[in-house]
Amino acid sequence: MSAVDVARARTAGLVERAERLFPGGVNSPVRAFRAVGRPPLVLERGEGAYVWDADGHRYLDYIGAWGPAILGHAHPAVVAAVVWATRNGFALGATNPLEIELGEAIRAALPSIERLRFTSSGTEAVMSALRLARAVTGRTLVVKFAGGYHGHIDGLLVEAGSGLATQAIPGSAGVPDATAAQTLVLPYNDASSVTLAFAQHPGQIAAVIVEPVAANVGVIPPAPDFLEHLRETTRADGALLIFDEVITGFRLGPGGAQARFGIRPDLTTLGKIIGGGMPIGAYGGRTDLMELVAPAGPVYQAGTLSGHPLSMAAGIATLAALEPARYIALDEVAARLASGLAAAANDAGRTVAIARAGSLLTVFFRPTAPSDAAEALTSDREAYARFFGAMLDHGVLLPPSQFEAWFVSMAHAEHELDATLDAARAAFRA
Ligand code: PMP
Repeated sequence: MSAVDVARARTAGLVERAERLFPGGVNSPVRAFRAVGRPPLVLERGEGAYVWDADGHRYLDYIGAWGPAILGHAHPAVVAAVVWATRNGFALGATNPLEIELGEAIRAALPSIERLRFTSSGTEAVMSALRLARAVTGRTLVVKFAGGYHGHIDGLLVEAGSGLATQAIPGSAGVPDATAAQTLVLPYNDASSVTLAFAQHPGQIAAVIVEPVAANVGVIPPAPDFLEHLRETTRADGALLIFDEVITGFRLGPGGAQARFGIRPDLTTLGKIIGGGMPIGAYGGRTDLMELVAPAGPVYQAGTLSGHPLSMAAGIATLAALEPARYIALDEVAARLASGLAAAANDAGRTVAIARAGSLLTVFFRPTAPSDAAEALTSDREAYARFFGAMLDHGVLLPPSQFEAWFVSMAHAEHELDATLDAARAAFRA
């Protein structure tokens, strides 16, 4: 065995076993690293801004558990809260005080959420919000935007982002045509196509669902007035506006994207950060809408593990640690990272465009930041793959796809910034 083989021996063995066990060796597609032409990592431990693989190598982490790890990994307050909660048993099958505590914290931060319901994943939250929207309106069609990812719900796996963008899959096999036909896919940031869709289907669209900052084809901030236009158009037609804030909720500030852009959606979906890294999702909104959910109303939705005490404990501790001032510092770190990366690319003569919204950013290997998925998808994926590999060789773990956001955490400090930019200078030159 070469030195490299020895250094990766345990990982290689685990990957081989995983490949005989899970489709593609993974339990979620992007973990297979297929878009970057590298063997997948097996990560065993995380602390602060770092993760360690099965062979003990340390990486400066920008995957951030795909969003939840805003405080960094294994934050002591979150660990303590979860350990404490385990002493009372796990799911007990009835309402637990922790559900109320986390629910009240979320409602206090997001005024559009008057009532909410916890689920076990973001996918379930979106699925339930759409069912509610259809029940409320008595309509069937749903508008989504190309490149938007809202979980692996049949009807929304059309021109979706995340793993589908990574693998250039237009949709998923196994989704009935009749189901896909209930979704209208429009270009993100294109207000006139929204106007046109409502003109063509008056009184037929139940809801528009949108990532208020697109973050699943790389980061694409909303154009000025785009979200405002969605608000006005849906209201005028009697459709609901659903903000999918699974990524942006408690990421762009305590009030999420809706506070940042000053828009009040009818329904909001959440996940990731509100569970502090434990399984979670939530949907909520106006009381008159949410009161239609069972058992208050006729829209059925349930979950054996919904409101799981360990997820609630992790979420409560996470939100408690997220003081508003810390977001200012976080955004500053991300802004310096973005400008440092731009300078490093420029010095190396590389053409990239860096898009950023708060602590979410993407280095697009194309000349300008994209305004929609079609533009994003013209990025040079091979160049990204080479950059990813060079960064990894310098101990920096980026998302293993051009089309996934980098998640900067509050544990990324001066030292981590310097280390990332040193690595990037070398990687852009290579
Ligand atoms: N909505 C958005 C915006 C997401 O980014 C994701 C997952 N990345 C989901 C929904 C689905 O969440 P989950 O993976 O928890 O089902």
